[in-house]
Amino acid sequence: MPMYEYSCLDCARQFERLLPMSATDQLVVCPFCQSTHVQRRLSLFAAHSRGGTTVETAPTAVTGGGCSCSGCHCGSGS
Ligand SMILES: [Zn+2]
Repeated sequence: MPMYEYSCLDCARQFERLLPMSATDQLVVCPFCQSTHVQRRLSLFAAHSRGGTTVETAPTAVTGGGCSCSGCHCGSGS
């Protein structure tokens, strides 16, 4: 039984419904404000993408070991 995600167009909240394939066109009512102005967003077969900010926290890789500033390109060795 697939799960569908709905967003209410009146109160802008989101909720999920487990509906059988034969009942996807039935009337879905917002559980918060009982509005019927709901919009089906997507099934949960698609992964949630929000909230996962991928920030590279790895330090800058120094190729060839430590910097001795004698022949590298760091710009501080003169
Ligand atoms: Zn609502």
